[in-house]
Amino acid sequence: MNLHEYQSKNILKKYGVRIQEGLVAESPEKALEAAKALSAQTGTKWFVIKAQIHAGGRGKGGGVKLAKGIDEVVPTAEKIIGMQLITPQTGAEGKKVHTVLIAEDVYYPGESEPKEYYVSILLDRSTGKNVLIASAEGGMDIEEVAEHHPEKLIKEIIEPSVGFQDFQARKVAFALGLEGNAFKEMITFLKNLYRAYNDIDASLFEINPVLKTSDNKIIAVDAKVDLDDNALYRHKDLEEMRDIREEDPFEVEAKASDLNYVKLDGNVGCMVNGAGLAMATMDIIKISGGEPANFLDVGGGANAKTVEAGFRIILKDSNVKAILINIFGGIVRCDRVATGIVEAYKKIGNIPVPIIVRLQGTNAEEGAKIINESGLKVFSAILLKEAAERVKEVLK
Ligand code: GDP
Ligand code: MN
Repeated sequence: MNLHEYQSKNILKKYGVRIQEGLVAESPEKALEAAKALSAQTGTKWFVIKAQIHAGGRGKGGGVKLAKGIDEVVPTAEKIIGMQLITPQTGAEGKKVHTVLIAEDVYYPGESEPKEYYVSILLDRSTGKNVLIASAEGGMDIEEVAEHHPEKLIKEIIEPSVGFQDFQARKVAFALGLEGNAFKEMITFLKNLYRAYNDIDASLFEINPVLKTSDNKIIAVDAKVDLDDNALYRHKDLEEMRDIREEDPFEVEAKASDLNYVKLDGNVGCMVNGAGLAMATMDIIKISGGEPANFLDVGGGANAKTVEAGFRIILKDSNVKAILINIFGGIVRCDRVATGIVEAYKKIGNIPVPIIVRLQGTNAEEGAKIINESGLKVFSAILLKEAAERVKEVLK
């Protein structure tokens, strides 16, 4: 689950990480109120108005703008609220901006130039450990730095038994070239950041930029937090921060029915039990000359209810020209799944695309019989090869 920048910053602040302060608003009038309140709180005269969407690169797409004075807040907020923001991470259709964060300007002039750094913590799956990555090349595309100047990335692997150690924080702050107060602040910043990451069961923290202000403070200007869905049950308060407007509506519906669904852009919908078999089924679709329209794992207990929910989600996608159901009857018996398919089909009514059902395992033949005798436009197959040939035929 992803969080918005303002939600992420609120969490960081609770853990003692210094942030660029801000208040959210959903209309230009509220933006003005927020700016006034923020001015009273921080003394700032300039404001940064930042689109709150679940995608980075907002600055490049016109979703982050500076208002040089209170008079510029309303016209600037008017430009951003309601816009369809396109960034390198949103795809061509962009994302609609419902909320903006009115933030204090932290790039004020002073004794030194403000400087941007990069800090992230994430789960490194190859070592099975969390890793902290930092770079003095902040603010810009970190992917670019990683590709062309990998030597400019500082990496500290975090041992789970002892956590992020003080010496590691000092090492990173030193490698970033910091000194004096900024050096000390960075150490506190990194330690608190890790504490937050660990406590909330995050899988990614990305702070880009981390700013050294002109008076040598270390501040999180941006914050991206991804939470580990498998640990969300331990964090009801965080789960409430979910913004489903930002998520794919198909995937939201699938989640409500406990289905593992990922939308893709192909023409053959598929419904499978088990993630590995689902991936193999997508391969079969490709080999048969189709393109998978989705990944859908209905889990271990495929019954009429889950099959119906799966059908409904697949059928919402107008690109779908055929549906391949591939169920291995291990714990669940094929005849029960077949009955479920027939029931779900009848309940939904006229399904406009051909359905190929491959049932293998316990009671496979009884299952095939139920499908064949149902009188519905459903083709049954027991061998995967037969199923693949059927898909090929119906795509013609
Ligand atoms: P992103 O584009 O989605 O990564 O959004 P960021 O929150 O990182 O903001 C993009 C850029 O806006 C930053 O890299 C800064 O250059 C600029 N920016 C953010 N906050 C301020 C601020 O307080 N003052 C000024 N002048 N620029 C800011
Ligand atoms: Mn950023």
